[in-house]
Amino acid sequence: MPIQLSIQRAQQLKAKPDEKKLGFGQYYTDHMLIIDYTKGQGWHDARIVPYAPISLDPAAMVLHYGQAIFEGMKAFRTEKGEILLFRPDKNMERMNVSNDRLSIPPVDGDFLIHAIKELVHLEQDWVPSEPGTSLYIRPFIIATEACLGVRASYQYMLMVILSPVGAYYSEGIKPVKINVESEYVRAVRGGTGHAKTAGNYASSIKAQEEAKEGGYAQVLWLDGVEKKYIEEVGSMNVFFKINGEVVTPELNGSILQGVTRDSVLQLLKSWNVPVTERRVSIQELYDASANGTLEEAFGTGTAAVISPIGELSWEGRVIQINGGVIGPIAQRLYDSITGIQNGTLADPFGWTVQVETAKA
Ligand SMILES: *Cc1c(COP(=O)(O)O)cnc(C)c1O
Repeated sequence: MPIQLSIQRAQQLKAKPDEKKLGFGQYYTDHMLIIDYTKGQGWHDARIVPYAPISLDPAAMVLHYGQAIFEGMKAFRTEKGEILLFRPDKNMERMNVSNDRLSIPPVDGDFLIHAIKELVHLEQDWVPSEPGTSLYIRPFIIATEACLGVRASYQYMLMVILSPVGAYYSEGIKPVKINVESEYVRAVRGGTGHAKTAGNYASSIKAQEEAKEGGYAQVLWLDGVEKKYIEEVGSMNVFFKINGEVVTPELNGSILQGVTRDSVLQLLKSWNVPVTERRVSIQELYDASANGTLEEAFGTGTAAVISPIGELSWEGRVIQINGGVIGPIAQRLYDSITGIQNGTLADPFGWTVQVETAKA
């Protein structure tokens, strides 16, 4: 990867949006990062430029065959005014897992973290400080070569855009209703389920829309072969507490390795809470519910951190979990992770990375 990073500043800066009405992914900052790849030359021309539309050849391979991967991470403003990234090395590691599966050339994670820190540094006034808000960081790579032949592209564009996002739980944490999807599947072993690639999302939208129409917030995905084993919830990993033990589906090739999932596992182990990564069947959950041992259920992901599940519906059978309120483990995890991210709690695992600011 290049070691040079050029910066072209925007002539005019945008007005900042109201921090209380940010929502998710509605506003973009003044600059973006671009790095090009050309076969034979590698990654080159790393540059921070004014945020603007890009132009693509209509034959750009991403538009036809979907060679595209992305990442999602956040920068947080501490009470002291510092800016912290949360485990960016894990995102870089996963980006290369996705790249490998999509036949996209690998990136140099250390250089990319450096470039992202420079971008966030330049955009520091965009990192909001209202409680629960953050600056969402979206790195992504697309195949840009103009060619309709089916093969790996010889050209790519890596971009990083930034979006200030609002508090996920502005009205307090409310457990959500989830539909267990029995028709559509998200991924199969050997497929692309473990890669953060656009196609996984494209094929999941129909199930999500149908769930929404039925009054559910999200879909619980079962394995693509037997439709028996739990995989993920929406675009989050999923955890259950059954009879005192926390369980989460093991990484089997069709599940995305969430950074939040990994953080939850490490925290639970450090608290001596029994936690196991293994296959979990939907029947096991319903049995546990029937005998009163299904104590908690929650999704984990960068957007919400922890999203408690209050109700599951599987082929017309509905179960309630923890009386529809957030459970103690989910609450403790939420408080711990957000506390580390916001700098209000100690960071015993060394998860946060500081971005230089003018004031700090
Ligand atoms: C991004 C993502 C997750 C969550 O990963 P985090 O790193 O915790 O944000 C889980 N499942 C899918 C399908 C995802 O795309």
